[in-house]
Amino acid sequence: MIGSRRAAWITLAVILIAVLALVVILIPWRVAPIPVGGTVPDATRDFTPAELSRAAALAARIQPTALLSLAVSLVISALLGLTSLGARIVTLAARPMGGGWVWQVILGSLALGLIGRLATLPLSAYAETVLRRYGLSTRGWGLWAADIAKSVAIGVALTALVLMVFYGSMRLAPRLWWTIAATAVAALVVVGSFLYPVLVEPAFNQFRSMPQSQLRGDLLAVAERDGVAVDDVLVADASRRTTALNAYVSGFGSTRRIVVYDTLLDSESPAVIETIVAHELGHAKSNDVVLGTAIGALGAAAAVIAGYLLVGWAPLLRRAGASSLADPRSMALVLFVLAAVGLILAPAQSLISRQIEASADVHALDLTRDPAAFIEMQRRLGIRNIAALEPNQLYYWVFASHPSTVERIATARDWAQVNRASPP
Ligand SMILES: [Zn+2]
Repeated sequence: MIGSRRAAWITLAVILIAVLALVVILIPWRVAPIPVGGTVPDATRDFTPAELSRAAALAARIQPTALLSLAVSLVISALLGLTSLGARIVTLAARPMGGGWVWQVILGSLALGLIGRLATLPLSAYAETVLRRYGLSTRGWGLWAADIAKSVAIGVALTALVLMVFYGSMRLAPRLWWTIAATAVAALVVVGSFLYPVLVEPAFNQFRSMPQSQLRGDLLAVAERDGVAVDDVLVADASRRTTALNAYVSGFGSTRRIVVYDTLLDSESPAVIETIVAHELGHAKSNDVVLGTAIGALGAAAAVIAGYLLVGWAPLLRRAGASSLADPRSMALVLFVLAAVGLILAPAQSLISRQIEASADVHALDLTRDPAAFIEMQRRLGIRNIAALEPNQLYYWVFASHPSTVERIATARDWAQVNRASPP
């Protein structure tokens, strides 16, 4: 019989190969996010100098704030996880309830989550004032505070749930706990992604069916032409918080939904809205949420197994003030490692996301065959959302989930060229 550690190494290798295979085979690598045709991305062609300088001015305030916030989070997480500070906080948090491991997990994740959030709260408040000054945020401080409280509550509850599985299975099966924990955490990712639209999204927005109208009929007709089963288009009351335009697909199977912001309906032409929905149909048709969920579930399982293999790394645990990995006082160390790994993987994740988005753009163009409407859509999104039209390259490679506005416009011009449509 092979040892448990050896089995874990083999399982980890198999999972990582599976993730790599999914990424190589199922991500649309053939679509170039930066167009390879004759069109050179050029912001000055579609945006006025005033629009460009406004976008640059907002990016110059928001991007450093976001980077600083990330840096503060990591430093705090390192301080808590790489010293015994985190362990002492976990002990202290659980003490009023008797100090048992379950309370250490629940109250420890609450305490660590609150500390992390409070540390970056001033930066969030500053970002909010910037967004208000630029007319992007419409929410008052009451709603801002409520939004943050809700996302902290949801984040802490999910973290506590995952940590409960992690530490619980170590107690249940000290030798093979990693098989139980990896399976359970992967299952949590799948169930979470499925339930997200019905459990989490309604905590922030209200959704209603798009009212009967010419537009609704047209959108459902586009979906039918595309062969995507859509029985409803939902409208989110996003205008309570923002003037930005957006639409998205979430959930899968029976919880899959296409949502458009109400801000779109108030101001945008039917052709623009149709193109946006055509892009979202691209995500639905190629099951991007399912693919993302599968990669996320395998990644979570790999993280658990990698965590198990770190058990032998006693000096790190000692430094964190924990007697073993099974001791919930190691929680701050575990959370720090996860945060660091997340940051290391961010460029790869963003690259994958940009490929998926570029592919949905091509889908929208193939479906509507209207590159002029696509370019108008990108122009409207760029102006209304005050998007970074000429993004900082480093920021783009690490964080950008979508190709830039200007790249997406160039893609449409390339598409027009290749398909001999009149070039807009
Ligand atoms: Zn998209």
